[in-house]
Amino acid sequence: MSEPVRLVNVNIFDGESVSEHNAIAFDETGIIALGEHRLSSEGAIDAGGGWLVPGLIDAHVHLELDPEIMTPPAPEAPRDLGAMAARAKRMVEAGITTARDLGGGAWAEIEIRDRILAGDIPGPRFLCAGQPVTSVGGHCHFWGGEAATIDEAKAVLQRQRDRGADLLKVMATGGRFTPKSSPKDAQFDLDFMTDLIAAAKAHGLTVAAHCHGSEGIRNATFAGITTLEHCSWVGEDGKWASGFQSDVVSEMVRRGTWVSPTIHCGWQARLDSGAGWIGTFREIFAEMKALGVKFVASTDAGIPGVFHHELAKALPVFAQVVGLSNAEVLTAATANGADALGIASVTGRIREGLAADILLVDQNPVEDLAYLQKPAAIWARGAAVKALLH
Ligand SMILES: [Zn+2]
Repeated sequence: MSEPVRLVNVNIFDGESVSEHNAIAFDETGIIALGEHRLSSEGAIDAGGGWLVPGLIDAHVHLELDPEIMTPPAPEAPRDLGAMAARAKRMVEAGITTARDLGGGAWAEIEIRDRILAGDIPGPRFLCAGQPVTSVGGHCHFWGGEAATIDEAKAVLQRQRDRGADLLKVMATGGRFTPKSSPKDAQFDLDFMTDLIAAAKAHGLTVAAHCHGSEGIRNATFAGITTLEHCSWVGEDGKWASGFQSDVVSEMVRRGTWVSPTIHCGWQARLDSGAGWIGTFREIFAEMKALGVKFVASTDAGIPGVFHHELAKALPVFAQVVGLSNAEVLTAATANGADALGIASVTGRIREGLAADILLVDQNPVEDLAYLQKPAAIWARGAAVKALLH
């Protein structure tokens, strides 16, 4: 065990607000102390007024998918663990200290998760869903989680638990990348969703639902889902953002359902295009926010063109699309992420006792989120990923 890192002359955004403290001590066991009076200045490093923020959390990635390839790996194809490890390394080097993997077909991401946890390779802390439950021939059925009945769905759940999954993913609607699957259609009814989510929660798992269409969003919300992925409000006409339902949003707020809109940096081009649907999308998100919906930052990294290490680059775009302030975006990418993933007692905030997942940035990221793209130093679970030069 190495000596604790002691930093003085720092500003701290603790995940929710700017802290009154200007000093910190931490090591691989966690954050030991906040505030100058709590630590001996011996060996302390003057951080020159830099800013500490919690390590970033991407709530939706697919480690097995190569963003440069248009098709997912064939079901029986061996996964490229070397490529997956390289992606994980780049993620943590870009300040992502926690990520939630929302689907793969061969549990290879669970193997990577465990190698990282054991300290064999660098990377973020991963929470993995394994194979998502889907309908027969439904969205991403090639991952192996097809279920025609609730009993078959529970068998899929059991299989993921046997493989060490941290949570369950369910495809509540169709999607874009699976032939014969339509984003607007619900894949499961409310009773099915309620039964499946209750079964997962009975085993202590949270549940994430892929949902584009409004009916699937409704079913997932009323069934007690933990996080709604995408939440695209595709209406009966099949158009993006055409099926907004405010009573469903009221239910999200009542239940504390998290929304994970998977806004990656490629959305900048969509904003710039001025397309009508993106304007509607922004209005919908503004209304959801006004009604009290809580958001987490997520990118869906691994799908074509969306790179695993680009969460920081996506955050200013996320701010624009959802209409969040910089501070709200930082919270969505740190404290909210940890709350939604059920790991608030582990990480997500700069608080005594939590893991030392910490970025040091030269200037105040609340003023400009772009500063997060070039951290001066990064610690993951107290170990330096990028060391502070002094
Ligand atoms: Zn996804």
